[in-house]
Amino acid sequence: MPNYLPPVKAIKKFCYYCVGENAKERKNCNITDCSLYPFRLGKNPKRKGIGGRKSLKNPKLAQKP
Ligand code: SF4
Repeated sequence: MPNYLPPVKAIKKFCYYCVGENAKERKNCNITDCSLYPFRLGKNPKRKGIGGRKSLKNPKLAQKP
């Protein structure tokens, strides 16, 4: 098991501290010109719909070419 955070999870944690350790405020952040804004919830919006670990375990969830 790796002992580091994936980049998007590290950004999520960074944003948590940025807004004063309040998860609700992280979601409500309105600094849209911040480079981390799209990733503040711990997900990469550009990967939406692309299979992750779940799709590796279940081929039915894998992205179709
Ligand atoms: S998106 Fe930027 S301004 Fe907003 S919480 Fe994250 S680091 Fe802070």
